[in-house]
Formats: sequence, C-alpha cells, structure tokens
Amino acid sequence: MLLSSSQSLSPSLKSILSLVLLLAVSTVHVRAALYTDPADLPTTEYDYIVVGAGTAGNVIANRLSEDSSRRVLVVEAGVDDTGIVTVHAPFLGPNNQQTLTDWNYTTVPQTGLNNRSITVPRGFVLGGSSSISEYSTFFDFFDFMVWTQGSSDLFDSYADASGDPGWGWDAIQPFWKKVSTLVPSPNNPTLPPPPSSDPTLSNGNGPVQIALPNFATELDYRVINASQILQSSNTTSDRFKYTQDMNGGDTIGFGFNQESTGGGERSSSATAYLWPALNERDNVDVVIGTRAMRLVVDECDRYNSQKRFGAVEVAQSVDGPRTILNATREIVLSAGSIGTPQLLLLSGIGPKDEVEAAGVESLVNLKGVGKNLVDHPLLLTYYSVSAPPASSTFDDTIRNPSLINSAISEWSTSRSGLFSTAPTSLLGFMRVPLASDEPDPSTGPKSAHTEILFLDGFAALGAAKQPSEGYFLSVITAVVSPTSRGSLLLDSTSGLNVTQQGTFSQPLIDYGIMSEEWDVNAMLQALEDADTFLGTEPWGAVSGLFNTTDSSSNSEQYIRENTISVYHPIGSAKMGKAGDKLAVVDERLRVRGGVKGVRVVDASVFPTIPECHPQAVIYTIAERAAELIKQDNVL
Ligand SMILES: Cc1cc2nc3c(=O)[nH]c(=O)nc-3n(C[C@H](O)[C@H](O)[C@H](O)COP(=O)(O)OP(=O)(O)OC[C@H]3O[C@@H](n4cnc5c(N)ncnc54)[C@H](O)[C@@H]3O)c2cc1C
Repeated sequence: MLLSSSQSLSPSLKSILSLVLLLAVSTVHVRAALYTDPADLPTTEYDYIVVGAGTAGNVIANRLSEDSSRRVLVVEAGVDDTGIVTVHAPFLGPNNQQTLTDWNYTTVPQTGLNNRSITVPRGFVLGGSSSISEYSTFFDFFDFMVWTQGSSDLFDSYADASGDPGWGWDAIQPFWKKVSTLVPSPNNPTLPPPPSSDPTLSNGNGPVQIALPNFATELDYRVINASQILQSSNTTSDRFKYTQDMNGGDTIGFGFNQESTGGGERSSSATAYLWPALNERDNVDVVIGTRAMRLVVDECDRYNSQKRFGAVEVAQSVDGPRTILNATREIVLSAGSIGTPQLLLLSGIGPKDEVEAAGVESLVNLKGVGKNLVDHPLLLTYYSVSAPPASSTFDDTIRNPSLINSAISEWSTSRSGLFSTAPTSLLGFMRVPLASDEPDPSTGPKSAHTEILFLDGFAALGAAKQPSEGYFLSVITAVVSPTSRGSLLLDSTSGLNVTQQGTFSQPLIDYGIMSEEWDVNAMLQALEDADTFLGTEPWGAVSGLFNTTDSSSNSEQYIRENTISVYHPIGSAKMGKAGDKLAVVDERLRVRGGVKGVRVVDASVFPTIPECHPQAVIYTIAERAAELIKQDNVL
C-alpha cells in the first residue's frame, strides 16, 4: 500500500523553520576580503579568477592562495553562509532548498518520468552544494552530508578515460588524504558507539571534518545485524555483506556512513577551505551576489584557432552594470555541472549549431559542452516500525513544535542533540546480478549499481506527508550506475535575449532520467533487495506500508511516477582524450578546442558518474587540480 496522508505541516512548524533561518550562529567570521559589490574590489586584475565558491572552487582558491605572490579572486553568485543556521546545523540542511541558498532550478519534463519535471537544487551560497542538503517539499528536515570516496575502479576508470595515470586510485591517494580528517563524534550515550575510533578507517589530515553518525539508534543496529545474517546465508552470498569502511577502495557493503560534520556542525568547503584562507591571507578576495555572465576572449585572438579567454564579465542584476575582471594567468570554472556548461555556452564555447541557435556568437566549436549530463535516480519507500523505543526514530520530534524548539536550543547552546547530526546513519552499496553477456554499466566490481539508505523516521518527500502518529523507517533506493544520459542547452524558447539574460536565466536541464530500461530494472532490483533485507529476523517488528514488489508493472509505474534524483548531476564538461569527440577538458582539466587560459574544476569534468555520493570525489579531484595549476604556473 502506498502511504498517503493528507496531513499538512502545521503553520507553527513552518514559522519555527522560518525563524531558524534568521537565528544567528555563534561562529562569527572575520571578513578579511569579502565584497558584496565588484565595484568595491581593490583591483580588476588578478592572477587567477575562480568562478564559483562551491565545493571545488573553494579548494582551488585556498590552495592557489597558499602562494602569497599570487592574487586570487573568487566570484560567487550566491549569499554569505555566515549565520544561516539551516546551513550549519546538520539535521536542518534540507530546509535550504527553495530558499535564498538555492538556485531553485527544475528539469524540463522527463519522458522517463511520465513527463514530470523534477527539482534541481544547487547551492547558491558560499560552500555551494556542499552547504545545502537534500530532501524537501514537506518538512525539509533531512540532511545527509554522506562522505563516500568512490571505488578504486572509479578512479582507475578516470585514468583510462583521460590517459593520465595520475587520476588512478593509487596516484590519487595523497590528494584524498589532503581533504579530510576523521574526528570523534559525540555519541548517543544509550547505545554502543559506532566505530569512529577505528584506526583502520580511511582517513586523512585535511580541513574537512568527517564523523561517524552520533545518533545511531537501535534500528541502525538491526541494519547491521540483517546484513550479517544475509552475508552468512548461502543464497545471497556477499550481495548484502557488512563493511566497516566504504572509503577504502571497495565500496560494496552495508555499514555506518561517514558524514561531513565535526563538533556537531556541518563541515563545508566554505568552513574548511574558504574562510580559513580569507581570515589568514591578504591575497584572496571574494565577491558575492555577483554572477559571471560570460568569459571574454582576448580581442587579438578572436579570429585565431588558439583563443585565450583572459577576462570574466560579471553582473549583479540582469539590467545592472557589467564589470570586466581580468585574469593574467588562468580562469578556473568551478560553477558546478549546471553553471559551468551554461557559462561556456554563453561564452560561445560549445556545439556551434546549438550556440548559434541560441543567438550567441560561436567562438569555439566544442561538441561536448552540455552533453553527458547524468544524475542518480532516487526513490523513497516507507515502512512502519511497531513500538520502537521512543529514541529510535525522529518522528516524535519533527511533528512536535516544542520538541523542535528544544532540539534547536540544544544545538545552539552546545552543538549536541538530534540536530547535531545527519538523519541517516547507515547505507549499503550493492551490485545487481548481471547476465554473463551483459555489459557492466559500473566502472568495475568494487563499484556499486544500487544503493539502499535508511532513515530512522518518516522523511517526507514528493507527495508523501508525515502521518500524525506512528513510527517509521524511510528507505531510499537509488541507481548509482545509471545508463541514461541527458544534456543542457541555453534556453532560447522564452523569446528573451539569451546573451542579455546570461546566467540570470535558467538553462534547459534534461537529465534523461530513467530513459534507459536498464535503470528501471536496476531500481526494481533495489526495491526487491530492500524487501529481502527488511524481511530478515531483526526486522520482525517492521511492517511494510508499501510493498514495491507486489506487481512488476505497478512497480514500474510507481518508479516513473515517484523517482526524483539524488542531486548529484555530473559530466556536462567531461574530461577525455583528444580523440574523444565529447571531451571538453583534457587530462589537466584545460578546456579543449584551442581555448587558452581556462580550466574546469568541478563535478562537470567526471567522464562517468561516481557510484557513490560525489562530494568527497570532487574535493579530491580539486586538490589534484590545484596542484596541476600550480605546476603549470611556476614562472
Ligand atoms: C541538496 C543536495 C544534497 C546533497 N547531498 C550530498 C551528500 O549527502 N553527499 C555527497 O557526497 N554529495 C551530496 N550532494 C552533491 C554535492 O553537494 C555536489 O555534487 C557538489 O557539491 C558539487 O560540487 P561543485 O563544486 O561541482 O559545485 P557546487 O558546490 O554546486 O558549486 C558551484 C558554485 O558556483 C556558483 N555559481 C554557479 N554559477 C555561477 C555564476 N555564473 N557566477 C558565479 N557563481 C556561480 C554556485 O552558486 C555555487 O556556489 C548534494 C547536493 C545537493 C544539491
């Protein structure tokens, strides 16, 4: 039975959430060089201009400004993250969607989803999408911040696709270690602690703080037990196996996930990389509320086959003044997998016919810009949990304004309590059984095809609303090696002037989600696996409210009617070898097609989608990219 309830969010809860947005976080940043107007910048000429203060962009800004002889400017369209509680309190993150910290994009109607459009949340704030989190539409209370590094097969596939062994698993390890440090989490005293102090867990000594979930409940230990029971059964072998460490190269298995939090706060690329650079150095400036509108070609190169793009045109409103900012060394595009291809296309770099059809002068015919766009499909199902201990789910808290108030108050005063951690503790990565002659859509046997993720409570999503009573387990299933591909185009359908609108107009985003049958079948397999998992002995007290495997045809319709994405779009300016017609950047992330002076460092460059949550992979790639930029600019 599909759970449906007409319960709506009470006005008092909504007003609490609005208030939360306004509460001040006690951590106050010293503003070293944060500007709100490009006219106030001390200069219009920098060595490097980084477009986008997001996950990757802040890594680049920090590492390039380590050299005090270089001046770095970061141009960010969004807002300052300081004082926004829903950014910093881990449990509250998803309330950021559809607010001032989100670009609020949607896809074009998706044929694989019965022509539904789905939301495309993207961070519009210092920290970018590492500062906002998932799941919206009802209570918006769910934040995952999952920290997964991807498999050794994934990185080795990037080495193959680019022809550069430096992207391979072994070579990338020093950069992975530069990103994060595993810190202790304050544990729920009523339960044995998750294995946060295990010295064998993959770890590093970088600025992003990573913790094991600090509110593991009795339900979470049922997940572990179920995994171990299935692992020891003859029928399922290792498909449901338990794993202690998903970040050690082999991602397959069920276990505690790591999350990007520390000391009860979100650790984002802004808190870990940008603010420390801003507060400690005087050679890095950041201008917020300012959109890059296009890259400007050096006039002397306009008709040359090799063209240097040495400036960025920026604006604060569609009709406001435009300012030209010059980069004497390089422009680094870190505007994300939507913003980066949009900017390239607006700069005349992209498929000639599409660029011209949008009314933009074509300067570089680069066919892959905006192609290869892909995201992970996601589906949510709900199970009722009979009479758990009160502390086992967050249902009571999130339906009661005074308990929410207490949780906010506890977080505000001591960074502890329910809101100091993400609402998911456990997940599992699985392989779909493949026929012997069936191509493997993943990057190898250590990479997953599907994911199952558990939340101890009712995570309202889509049409579902939290019932007024009862306790729930929300089960997310996702296809992490999808075969469907989409694209991004400039939108010339509105009749408005595309060049004038620039990045104030949303591009046409088409994920092509669920357009390939393999992805639908993989989701069906994931739903069946979730039922198998929850049919084991530790779940005796769980009753499925929606049995997804009742009928395969109904299940397919359920999938097409309810699938959204995991908000992990990638690939729209992919890295590849010279012979690869859709390659947008080379192995050093320099834009191809004779473009000089421009690199892309963000989620757009992935040749294939990481079979995991991608933020840690993006940080890692950005660390190596910073090293490559330094190497290429020694003189
Ligand atoms: C709601 C949500 C939840 C997520 N949860 C997880 C998770 O649990 N685990 C995980 O691993 N991943 C998660 N992700 C995915 C992950 O956050 C992203 O893949 C990653 O942050 C992308 O990094 P990026 O550097 O490519 O882009 P972003 O971090 O999005 O940065 C791009 C930046 O560029 C700015 N920008 C864009 N265009 C312009 C322009 N024209 N001018 C100036 N600035 C511009 C944007 O405002 C933004 O700050 C989530 C994403 C979302 C949206």
